[in-house]
Amino acid sequence: MGVRPQRGEGDGAPMDLTGFRFDLSPSDVPTSWYNILPDLPEPVPPPLDPRTRQPVPPEALTRLFAKTLVEQEVSTERFIEMPGEVRKALVAFGRRPTPLFRAMNLERYLNTPAEIYFKYEGVTPTGSHKINTALAQAFYNKREGIERLVTETGAGQWGSALAAAGAYFGLKVRVYMTRSSYLTKPYRRTLMELFGAEVYPSPSDKTEVGRRFLAEDPNHPGSLGIAISEAIEDVLKDERARYSLGSVLNHVLLHQTVIGLEAMRQLDEAGVYPDVMIGAVGGGSNFAGFTYPFIGERLRGKSETRFIAVEPKASPSMTRGVYTYDYGDTGGLTPLLKMHTVGHQYRVPPIHAGGLRYHGVAPTLSILINHGIVEPVAYHQREVFEAAHLFTKLEGIVPAPESAHAVKAAIDVALKAKEEGRRVVVAFNLSGHGLLDLQGYREYLDGKLVDYEPEKLPVEEGPPV
Ligand SMILES: *Cc1c(COP(=O)(O)O)cnc(C)c1O
Repeated sequence: MGVRPQRGEGDGAPMDLTGFRFDLSPSDVPTSWYNILPDLPEPVPPPLDPRTRQPVPPEALTRLFAKTLVEQEVSTERFIEMPGEVRKALVAFGRRPTPLFRAMNLERYLNTPAEIYFKYEGVTPTGSHKINTALAQAFYNKREGIERLVTETGAGQWGSALAAAGAYFGLKVRVYMTRSSYLTKPYRRTLMELFGAEVYPSPSDKTEVGRRFLAEDPNHPGSLGIAISEAIEDVLKDERARYSLGSVLNHVLLHQTVIGLEAMRQLDEAGVYPDVMIGAVGGGSNFAGFTYPFIGERLRGKSETRFIAVEPKASPSMTRGVYTYDYGDTGGLTPLLKMHTVGHQYRVPPIHAGGLRYHGVAPTLSILINHGIVEPVAYHQREVFEAAHLFTKLEGIVPAPESAHAVKAAIDVALKAKEEGRRVVVAFNLSGHGLLDLQGYREYLDGKLVDYEPEKLPVEEGPPV
């Protein structure tokens, strides 16, 4: 491995530096978001009230979410205009637009005829795509007079992004962080507190739910489900507070489409159209943000691009789950969503890709999978870390363990193209950097990573609800 010296090096001869990166200027940041709802092959089934099994009216959600976000959740407008203040925040604070790179050194190493491009969301202040929706959500809440946002976080990516957005728009932010992450990812907590957020290990003594779990076990490791329950209880006790979610819901996926809309122009600048697009899936927000503008084109008959959604084998909602109504949280407090799920009671093994440890996926993505538009694949964490390690040495960027799933799939597609001797244009989303996830890489280097094979999933014993 390594870079072979090029002819002419060191003698002042000009090197060809074109084709490595494709940049946009701030004025190219999209002015609207793309909403896939009107282009879907069938409508999204409404959320249901678990007690009555009747659709939840959108107005009922405004006690939890800002009104505009609830409107966006059900809107069927294909393009939704972005407020100037949000666009400015994305540029001035979120550091958009983000670059698109071509992974030339990886291509050369794999000796593949495939061209590999990646959109890099790791350049944002908190190191991932999550700031794209955090800024939009903070803006609408502020405009509606809300004073405080409450959320949960597992690995800490979402909590940091919302904390940053709260700092920018002048909102208080409170984050319930699963206790296990609070203890093992101390730098994420520090980052959130630097932005002024209050961070509580969950279960905490701040809520009834939390106190109940603490009474059971004072050292309870917590779970996303418990943290969501705490955040919701907190919001319901304070009229001036609202809840904020970092994935799964339509409005969140909508806000992320700045990624794909930018990438469309950048790939155009590169003179290519992708044959295959790839993204990692936790709840589906970075995958949707990157691919939905392109999936819209395919749904309207304008392309034949393939779309590959990658998940961990330890949390296989797309590849082994069932399509049914299930709770959004483990505690069973949210409305029921129709989605691919392994069941809300599934205990996701402690893999390092914390952002992918979710039992379901976005309802819109579930429909696209059912119609064969999106192809799901799953990998074990060791092969994912191996791919990320290779990528780090060749391209210099340490991928977040979540994003590394997309890297692994992109490499596999490029190797297949080599086998078949076909020139294929592959584009994947590198949703974040892994510089705050080095503990996982430490265990990888020490040979301590474990692959988890779920032998029995709750859904195999019957639908979750
Ligand atoms: C949260 C996160 C994910 C997974 O969430 P999605 O909503 O599926 O995008 C992926 N990559 C990174 C870097 C994350 O922080």
